[in-house]
Parts: sequence; structure tokens; C-alpha cells
Amino acid sequence: MKVGILGGGQLGRMLALAGYPLGLEFRVLDPKPAACAADVAEHRQGDYDDPAALDAFCDDLDVVTYEFENVPRSAADRLAGRVPVYPPPQALDVAQDRLVEKTFFRDHGIPTAPFEAVSTREELADALDTLGTPAVLKTRRFGYDGKGQFILHSPGAADAAWEEVGGRPLILEGFVPFRRELSILSVRDRNGEVRTYPLVHNTHADGILVRSRAPVQDVDADLQATAADYALRVLNDLEYVGVLAIELFEHEGRLLANEMAPRVHNSGHWSIEGAETSQFENHVRAVAGLPLGPTDPVGTSVMVNLIGCVPPLEAMLAVEGAHVHLYAKSARPGRKLGHVTVRDLDPAIALERAAVLEEMVGRTPVRAGHDR
Ligand code: AMP
Repeated sequence: MKVGILGGGQLGRMLALAGYPLGLEFRVLDPKPAACAADVAEHRQGDYDDPAALDAFCDDLDVVTYEFENVPRSAADRLAGRVPVYPPPQALDVAQDRLVEKTFFRDHGIPTAPFEAVSTREELADALDTLGTPAVLKTRRFGYDGKGQFILHSPGAADAAWEEVGGRPLILEGFVPFRRELSILSVRDRNGEVRTYPLVHNTHADGILVRSRAPVQDVDADLQATAADYALRVLNDLEYVGVLAIELFEHEGRLLANEMAPRVHNSGHWSIEGAETSQFENHVRAVAGLPLGPTDPVGTSVMVNLIGCVPPLEAMLAVEGAHVHLYAKSARPGRKLGHVTVRDLDPAIALERAAVLEEMVGRTPVRAGHDR
């Protein structure tokens, strides 16, 4: 069976690495001449909006999936006319537009921060009146890793934010003084069977994920069940196939959905070593029509992202139990170049080893007992 992946980045690379032991083959489509998935999959260079490139790409493929959510809907539709495409292209419509996404959550009874659509300066003033400050102004489309968004601490900050992003479709959200950022990853197969990973606790710096810990500590079973139920509503409504990630704020004992990713997700990388079946393998299994594997955690895992630079391999591997994943990408500030996961049955040991790695990459480590 040959699986096509739109996008040839690290997620495509890790999908292929997970699928090869199952005897699957992979082809990626990426406009860039150098795609890091090309080391482990056949790489076709082509634009996502080039019909000829899409047709040539899907020739002799059994199924197509994607590794990023900004795949043009038209590309997914064109491919879906020729070959099964999972997750379903409708999921892209939801995930590509923050207003559609938040409205979708609300319509499915999934709580979010309060929000208002904004397309003019007057609407921004009205939305600030309604929601108050602090509030977060975001572009509806193409924002990622905190790009294209502003925290407005007072109505007086509106002019400066409008200067930067005004004129584009925007959304204003009430600022949530959350306790923690969590994510829930679930996978649904072609028969509708669903499995869910444990809630993950995510830490960001400058809008970029730097660290994930799974399972999150100090959470009751109700919160896990609630998160799994929210994911299930989205999965079933979209007749979804594959891994879905939903990012959540934990606030006053409740979960508020912030956004969803219709793909494998950075906050699930820990599952390569930390779960019975990784998110990558389960995504591949789902889209290929194979049975899903168990999503149970094996001990506690901490994943540390390598962003902008990579410490010496020898030093990282000298940390007992460190599992290093390098993406073979050239270094650039803010770029995700790899990740390291440590896992142990004793959470304190996993945290301590992760702290050594965090110090190595120049971050203030989160020590055991301060992970709440
Ligand atoms: P996003 O691009 O929506 O994932 O936002 C990037 C980061 O900004 C999130 O991970 C949060 O740390 C923060 N953030 C986004 N929206 C809000 C909000 N409504 N309230 C508080 N923090 C937020």
C-alpha cells in the first residue's frame, strides 16, 4: 500500500518512519526542493494548487493524507475525486479559519473563550466593548505559533493592533487567564472506532511549543473524560479518519477549546516512546484502513522541542533514557529542528532528565513539584 502525504516536513517524516515497519510505502508532495521527509519517502516537488502536480502525485497512491492544515481545500477536493483522502477535507474548512473553528466548537457544546468576529475598526471597538480587556486579537487565517495575534491590555491598544493586522478578517477573543494549556489527541479509524491519548500538558515560549508532559499530572478522571468527549463530538460529526488534536485551556476546573489540528501534532510526539502505539502509527493505521493500536501511556513522558539550534548529540544522548529525534533541517531561529523525549515509570525521574535537556537548550527547566 502506498500512502501520499501533502507536505514533506517533520510530521511527514515521522509518519513515514512509523509506517515502514507495517510494510507501507510513502510519497510526499512539497513545493520546496528540500523536504526533510524526502530522506525517508519519495519526494515530488510541486505546488498544492497545480492540478497537474496533484494528478501526477496521486497516480498509483492508495490513500492521501496531510501533515499541515493549510492545504488548499481545492487541492484536497481534487485528490478526493481520485483517491480516498483522510482526514476528510471538511476538517480543513474548520481548522483553517479561527472564527469557523470557534463557532463549530460552540455549536457542538464545546466551551471556548468568548469571541466576536471583527472585520472593521468599528467592529473592533464594539467587540472590545462586549468582551472587555484584556482580549486577544487574531487573524482568522494563517496564524500559527502565536503569529498574527496581539494581546490588547486596554481599549487604547486597539489602534496599534489595527495598524498591524487591520483590513484582514479577524477574531477578538476574551483573554483566558488559564491555569495550564492542555491538548487531547484522539484517533478515529475508517469504521468509526475511536481511541484517545491521555491529556497532555503543554508549555509555550513566544507562542511556540517548547515542552509537553504526558499524562498531565494532577488531573481528575472527569477532565480526561470531558476532553475525550469533546474530541469525540468533533470526530463523529466530521466522520473523521486519522489523528485529531484539540488544544485546550484549563481554567477554573473547566476546559475551553482554543483550536484544533486535523493531523498529527507536536504535542503528541512523546507518544513515539511514551504510548503503546504512537500518534504517527495510529494515524497511518487509521488512514490505511488498519485496526488501531492501544493509546495507553507507558509511564510519564516529557518531550523537549529543539528550536533554533541543536545541542551536541553526544551531550543529549548522555542523558539517561533520552530519545533523540532530529529532523535533518538547517538551523534557523524559531525553527523546530528536532525533539527529545524522556520517559520513566517514575515521573520525578522523567522530569529531572527533561530538566537537564531543557538547561542544555537554554531554557529554564521545570523541576519536579513545579509542574502544576
Ligand atoms: P493560538 O495561535 O490560538 O494557538 O495561540 C497561541 C498562544 O497564545 C496559545 O498557546 C496561548 O498561550 C495564547 N492564547 C491564545 N488565545 C488566548 C486567549 N483567548 N486567552 C489567553 N491566551 C491565549
